Amino acid sequence: MILETPLSSIKRIQPAYQKRLLKLGIKNLRDLLYHFPFRYDDFSKITPIDQLKLGEISTVQGQIAQIKNTRTWRKSLIITEAFLEDKTGLIKIIWFNQPYLGEQLKSGTLVSLSGKVNFDGTLFLQNPAYEKIISNKVSLLRHTGRLIPVYPETAGLSSRYLRYLTQIFLPQTQINDWLPQEIKKNKKLLDLVKALKEIHFPSSKKVLEEARHRLAFDELFLIQLFLTQQKIKWQQNLAPRISFNQELIKNFVSRLPFRLTQAQRRAAWEILQDLEKLKPMNRLLEGDVGSGKTIVAAMAVLQTAEAGWQTAFMAPTEILARQHFETLKRFFNRHTLKIAFLAGKSCEINGKSSKKCSKKEVLEKIKKGGVQIAVGTHALIQKKVQFKNLALAIVDEQHRFGVAQRAALQKNISEIKDGQLKTVPHLLSMTATPIPRTLALTLYSDLDLSLLDELPKNRKKIITKIVPPSLRQKAYEFIKRQVSAGRQIFVICPRIENVNQEIKQENQSWAEVKAVKEEFEKLSQKIFPDLKVAMLHGRMNPKEKQKIMTDFSKHQTDILVSTSVVEIGVDMPNASLILIEGAERFGLAQLHQFRGRVGRSRHQSFCLLFSDSTTALVRLNALIDCQNGFELAEKDLDWRGPGEFLGTRQSGLPDLSMASLTDISLIKEAKEEAQKTINQDPMLQNYPLLKEKLKNFQDGIHLE
Ligand code: ADP
Ligand code: MG
Repeated sequence: MILETPLSSIKRIQPAYQKRLLKLGIKNLRDLLYHFPFRYDDFSKITPIDQLKLGEISTVQGQIAQIKNTRTWRKSLIITEAFLEDKTGLIKIIWFNQPYLGEQLKSGTLVSLSGKVNFDGTLFLQNPAYEKIISNKVSLLRHTGRLIPVYPETAGLSSRYLRYLTQIFLPQTQINDWLPQEIKKNKKLLDLVKALKEIHFPSSKKVLEEARHRLAFDELFLIQLFLTQQKIKWQQNLAPRISFNQELIKNFVSRLPFRLTQAQRRAAWEILQDLEKLKPMNRLLEGDVGSGKTIVAAMAVLQTAEAGWQTAFMAPTEILARQHFETLKRFFNRHTLKIAFLAGKSCEINGKSSKKCSKKEVLEKIKKGGVQIAVGTHALIQKKVQFKNLALAIVDEQHRFGVAQRAALQKNISEIKDGQLKTVPHLLSMTATPIPRTLALTLYSDLDLSLLDELPKNRKKIITKIVPPSLRQKAYEFIKRQVSAGRQIFVICPRIENVNQEIKQENQSWAEVKAVKEEFEKLSQKIFPDLKVAMLHGRMNPKEKQKIMTDFSKHQTDILVSTSVVEIGVDMPNASLILIEGAERFGLAQLHQFRGRVGRSRHQSFCLLFSDSTTALVRLNALIDCQNGFELAEKDLDWRGPGEFLGTRQSGLPDLSMASLTDISLIKEAKEEAQKTINQDPMLQNYPLLKEKLKNFQDGIHLE
């Protein structure tokens, strides 16, 4: 049997169990053997009966001397009482509600029992784990007498059964160790078969650690190998050389209404340098919310466009794409550049008049080179969108797209070269979600990094307060005063739906929409009848959304009640207060993102976290003191774990079952080894097993 052997072909596993195994996602032997224990019971201490001590977890081995079932007077409980005998003595055993034991463990049976030693006048074991010792071989024990694996279970499928399957099938499965011998030797890693055996049935805690280490290394190594290969493939392409136009950039910068920060200058310089190379850029511009990434990207766009090349500027939501479209039009109003907007349902071209036009027309213009800059959602990277000479692709809030989508983007834009041009565009990704360094190292190891580690000078610290129900009225009064002072307000209602669905954010559940509608009605009619309140949610059509956003940006409305659609990117400098309902439902990093919607100008800004949960207070308190997204992200990672922080759907990576994304040194080691391997043998020709493994890994992350 091999790892791919489906369990359905194994007769020994009955249909009822097949079904339950499927519930745990176990379809074949690989799934079974990679269904790792989440903890171990330490039953390794085997004690002669006369040396048992009260309270100790012990294993005793011997013969059943006597066994019988009795019913309690209430008849609700069946007690199996037995005596176990070894060379040193006799001990009483009691099991509750397992009457079949009376049959299975008849007098004289040789058994091994593990459990805690109790006392009720004499020492006894209550509900110990049990198993027969078969032909005197203690080496075959799987439930007692050693470190015992405890697995994630499901109804009708116990760890006991999983142990049984694993112990039978592990030795029968042919497992090829795909990790190159040198690496194993170099890193002193266990052999794969041994690691798998030890992870299920550890011979000691020390070897268990070694097994974990090996399996964790495997996961990280594959990710790194994938990313490294990705990077090398990318760099084998040619990109257009766009020379640094100092005059142009200087002029542009001098006309801005503000001074660029040092960090913005440095990042822009790094990007403009990259554009001059024939090697395609693959850079991540990372900066906290409000650090001013858009303007940095705009400089690259300007230089590219003025050199006669096209740019695609992509954002994860239509609202954000629309905002970028407007911003770029404003930034470039002195230049005769044609900018197009393209989303799922709507499009627009700004020419002399920014009249509405058909999608066909926009696509035609993009293809013929009639527009230099196309801003939009992922509609931009569909096959039917063909560019004449795309030289720069920008992806804003790229963490929303995940590793797999990024790879798909690179693949799509690489294929454009099948037209006349033999080049691929430079790629600039931007993210405002501060990713903890450890994660960044794992997820983005194929990217070069530019950091915006300072905020524009005019910013004031955002005052953050947790508002309990008793202070709600006071908070509303405060909002009224802010509006009288000329400011605007965001009100966010929590996402009720599964947090992982963030990419599909525009398709929000009706439940969430309902919450927003109710809040909107309450605020507009009861609380702020004199103010102009508007509502925004993902189920509105693009036109409606655009109107709401435009009205808000022109200050025709005072308060915007919204779902999390405004979480990312939205830039409304006059907004000075954001109120978040049900704040405990959001992660710290996400709340920090929301908070970043205000404090984008010189006005003192506020973030009010409404919460009636006292348990969430400690977590929410972290936001009051800390305005640094990176620190908050690290805290979030501690609190919620990487799975929650970046759901796999979001990161695009398969689940890590063994590796910890906080184990920075192991990540580094895996990265080094991956790079070494690829450097020596880019196509992995000398490592057929590894090559195949990597292919499976890639298939697993769905590059469509
Ligand atoms: P983010 O990094 O979150 O994407 P934006 O690019 O949206 O931030 O910029 C936030 C706001 O700050 C925008 O209104 C932008 O015009 C403004 N801004 C950008 N750079 C500066 C600067 N150096 N000084 C003052 N304001 C700036
Ligand atoms: Mg932004």
